[in-house]
Amino acid sequence: METRPTKYIFVTGGVVSSIGKGLTTACIGALLEARGLKVTAVKLDPYINVDPGTMSPFQHGEVFVTDDGAETDLDLGHYERFMGTRMSKLNNFTSGKVYETVIANERRGDYLGGTVQVIPHITDEIKRRIKLAAEGYDICLIEVGGTVGDIESLPFLEAIRQMRTDVGPQNTLFIHVTLVPYIPTAHEFKTKPTQHSIKEITGYGIIPSIIICRCQQPLDEKLKSKISLFCNVAPNCVINAPDVRTIYELPLALHEQGLDQRCVELLNIWTGAPKLEPWTKIASSLTDESRETVTIAMVGKYVDLTESYKSLSEALIHSGVANNCKISIVYVDSETLDTKSPEKSIRAANHGQDVDAILIPGGFGVRGSEGKIAAARYARENKVPFFGICLGLQIATIEYARNVAGLNAATSAEFDPNSSCAVIDIMDSQKSVNIKGASMRLGAYPCAIKEGTRAREVYGKTLISERHRHRFEVNNTFREELEKAGLVFSGTSPDGTLAEMIELKDHPWFIGVQFHPEFQSTPKNPHPLFREFVAAAKVRKAQLSTLSSKVEKRATNGKAPSISAAPTPSGAAVPVGSEQ
Ligand code: GLN
Repeated sequence: METRPTKYIFVTGGVVSSIGKGLTTACIGALLEARGLKVTAVKLDPYINVDPGTMSPFQHGEVFVTDDGAETDLDLGHYERFMGTRMSKLNNFTSGKVYETVIANERRGDYLGGTVQVIPHITDEIKRRIKLAAEGYDICLIEVGGTVGDIESLPFLEAIRQMRTDVGPQNTLFIHVTLVPYIPTAHEFKTKPTQHSIKEITGYGIIPSIIICRCQQPLDEKLKSKISLFCNVAPNCVINAPDVRTIYELPLALHEQGLDQRCVELLNIWTGAPKLEPWTKIASSLTDESRETVTIAMVGKYVDLTESYKSLSEALIHSGVANNCKISIVYVDSETLDTKSPEKSIRAANHGQDVDAILIPGGFGVRGSEGKIAAARYARENKVPFFGICLGLQIATIEYARNVAGLNAATSAEFDPNSSCAVIDIMDSQKSVNIKGASMRLGAYPCAIKEGTRAREVYGKTLISERHRHRFEVNNTFREELEKAGLVFSGTSPDGTLAEMIELKDHPWFIGVQFHPEFQSTPKNPHPLFREFVAAAKVRKAQLSTLSSKVEKRATNGKAPSISAAPTPSGAAVPVGSEQ
């Protein structure tokens, strides 16, 4: 059977960074996939770090982990959420990684006698990696990180320029994403930065056929024709990427302007019309203002940078679609949280209101840990739905050990390496590790779920696979003691040696997981753990509101209300701390 050649769509960015190139790339992928094409995407990152795994979330946002254990750019999270294709090690590489390979080749003697240079050695390695990732796909989208004009991205631009000749112009398409700013004093959108950006990229030999303009409001036909005239693209190839109410509306906004149609025409591919019903449903659910709002407190350290928890906040949004509710995430800084009265800090963060659930996300280091432990205690004692992810499981275990199992000095070896009561300890496999890059327990591992647990109910099966990124684990020396004290280890590695999930009986919803389920949640397929967590939050919200209306009634009858805790789902109010 004749195989079709892979077609390459290169997405570059101009004018400013953070204009949503990653999202745009993901949306193009979604649209082409909806036309029945097999699509993949690659992110090229110009920085020198070999991968983003060693960068602070403040610098780089979330590190997205793939099934095969690659620590990658957060744009790969967008690709997976918009496209069915799963990402792997092949789908993201940096200048650092390219140089690392070329230098290793050189040391081995592969280029003996030659001078190793950016062109051709570095550019060849870039092209080799792109082609490897593209193998077996109809379309490979390549997003070049950075902004045109950056010194760092020059070898990448040169490599994609060469690819046009290598694989043929009929198999390549260049799309440039730019910003069209609005100048309020002049009451005008300005196209000059776009013109300059196109001039710059054309100077590198790359001629975009489609320009996607980020702008606050849709550009009118006059402006589109102006950009078309000055930037050498057809008028119907100037596409607006206006601000949308939800990112999941973007594929539809781009489709309405014919973006996917232009792509297939320019690449000479025949496909039917795209099947966009799933996106229409998701977008209409997410923009339905009549839905009730469920409020979730996220207690963590990087609270002022929502990009650090990108997949997590998206996973919650997906669960909002599944539960027909809006999600409001209240970020609570664990460093400043009042450990004596966590509810005060949580309420303060939520304009004086109670929240419907508490989530402790992944994280590293001791800073803010006591605040997180206090929040976990508050959730346990007050029957507030609780979800602990990775570090969140470890925090919940420490809290339970200290306050229920009587291990007062319980901590994590990550917080106190000399502790004699490290209920969370460094994993055996990590003990000999002394380098930082790509050395954690990374990627997908199987987990066996115990019958009769909430975890089993949530997943509907006993064997699951989830992605990991950690060095510490529940210390098996304490497992029996914790179990005796009532902590349920509902999921373990199939051989039983690693604790993967914990939960509490007699609590409406209290689950901790050593893995990162957020990486597998998509709007079309919300992750069951998030879906059920949000469902539990919704139940609590309903109970809180019946409770408060009863309180109001009684207060107006002249009786003082006497409610000390939120009710369990069965409706009975439980006084603080009574469950032990
Ligand atoms: N710092 C913890 C560990 O390494 C948790 C990591 C995480 O939350 N991703 O085990």
